[in-house]
Amino acid sequence: MSESVRIVACPTCKAEVRWEPQSRYRPFCSERCRLIDLGQWASETYRVPAEEDSPPGEMPPTH
Ligand SMILES: [Zn+2]
Repeated sequence: MSESVRIVACPTCKAEVRWEPQSRYRPFCSERCRLIDLGQWASETYRVPAEEDSPPGEMPPTH
């Protein structure tokens, strides 16, 4: 038990991340998780097809 590497949990996917200089994205496990946490993924990859087809102003009659 001489190993003193600190292990942290990636805030995004909860994966174990070794807290050491090589882990350049710590506390995240990867750049992807870091971007996700920053919210950049929303504009980069979060492309939802027009599934929820309900534009404001064209509401179906509710009665
Ligand atoms: Zn992660």
